[in-house]
Amino acid sequence: MEERLAKVCARTGRPRDSITLLAVSKVFPPSAIAEAYALGLREFGENYVQEFEGKFPDVKDLPGARFHFIGHLQSNKARRAAQLFTTIQTVDSEKLARRLNDAATPLDIYLEVKLSEEDSKAGCPPEELGALVSAVRAMPHLTLRGLMTMPPWSEDAELSRPYFRRLAELAREHGLPGLSMGMSHDFEVAIEEGATLIRVGTALFGKRRKPAAT
Ligand SMILES: *Cc1c(COP(=O)(O)O)cnc(C)c1O
Repeated sequence: MEERLAKVCARTGRPRDSITLLAVSKVFPPSAIAEAYALGLREFGENYVQEFEGKFPDVKDLPGARFHFIGHLQSNKARRAAQLFTTIQTVDSEKLARRLNDAATPLDIYLEVKLSEEDSKAGCPPEELGALVSAVRAMPHLTLRGLMTMPPWSEDAELSRPYFRRLAELAREHGLPGLSMGMSHDFEVAIEEGATLIRVGTALFGKRRKPAAT
């Protein structure tokens, strides 16, 4: 993984420390998080509140470890998620943001943007992003870090490029520094387009046994 990262950094002139590697540990046991931690990883991504609740007692005392929620978050689980995670990457409505803010614990936030027409994809439509950015900026417990997106899945990483480019444009327009984009198969393209955080599961932990149901 670090080899692939070093190559793309060299090619793009990006410093390695301008890119956060988020280890997506969904479906894997707490021991996998502990092993990755021992190898130096500090940021972890999880998709399911309930699943992470089970792992939390085993990982909560790892010094400096940070846990990001990257799955679809239902409003009724927002309060619990705010207690378990340091960062919520999938905020896509003012209602959800308000629920998170009401938990009154400091949280880093990324707004998930819907850039494809797929019905299954969550996210804020780009034309509503301005209003959501303003609303979240006014919420005292939330710190807005940037934008997140998930292009339609394709084996061909090049097909993700227009989505990454569009997200980078939107982030610039709204003055947001963080860009969470790119997964195991397309993170190189994401970095070329300016990703500051890549979400990598399979390339670090191997294939997931259970499919990642959403
Ligand atoms: C599972 C997941 C990832 C990681 O995917 P890999 O292909 O295993 O790297 C990244 N982002 C989100 C939102 C995910 O659900």
